[in-house]
Amino acid sequence: MVNELISELNTRGVNFIKTVDISMLSAKENRGYSAAILIGIVLSPCYIFRLSKENILDYSEFSEKEHSTDKLAEWTADFIIAKGYKAFAQSERNLGLHGFYDETTKTTPLPHKKIAILAGVGWIGKNNLLVTEEYGSALCMCSILTNAPLPTENRPIIMPKCGECTVCKDICSAGAIHGSTWEIGMNRDLIVDVYHCNGCLKCLSNCPWTQKYINNNSSE
Ligand code: SF4
Ligand code: SF4
Repeated sequence: MVNELISELNTRGVNFIKTVDISMLSAKENRGYSAAILIGIVLSPCYIFRLSKENILDYSEFSEKEHSTDKLAEWTADFIIAKGYKAFAQSERNLGLHGFYDETTKTTPLPHKKIAILAGVGWIGKNNLLVTEEYGSALCMCSILTNAPLPTENRPIIMPKCGECTVCKDICSAGAIHGSTWEIGMNRDLIVDVYHCNGCLKCLSNCPWTQKYINNNSSE
């Protein structure tokens, strides 16, 4: 089943797939599921380059790829259910429909980012985004919770590699980024003021790790 699933997702444009054991998490977080699948689609270097250099608000590719990861997560859950197992796609639509998104605190019990951290995909930057060595923060992700007996591969947690960098804090015109370095168990509000974030994506596109991804792939 796993190979078939991975092959199908790759064919449908997914750039990476990770599966982690979540049985050690609290019942509130894992909701009785034993594993989580993370799927990711990478934003194109030219789109991110424009976002970082031009004073524009352009959600076109970001929205399209966020929508794609959501739809692929829903497709994945249907695929697993058809094989006789339980699965729940953590798409924006599903989280809302099932009451797993708290509008007031803007939180969900098990964010995609936490699954990415368990998978060792990257770290939480001072921008409160997942930052990876390969793509910076130029990623859209969604996840699926399941009880299917999938092979899982949890990795050691990567601590932030932001160092003394303050690019995201300095570029945030809303003053929403506090400049704090993430630690395990840290309250999100100590890193970013989500209520004042205007979603400009400048902290995503200007992060030096994202810029490195652009520079390494500048012909695409
Ligand atoms: S998306 Fe824009 S407003 Fe929000 S934290 Fe990042 S830079 Fe600040
Ligand atoms: S811009 Fe700098 S401080 Fe902010 S997340 Fe990226 S590396 Fe970390």
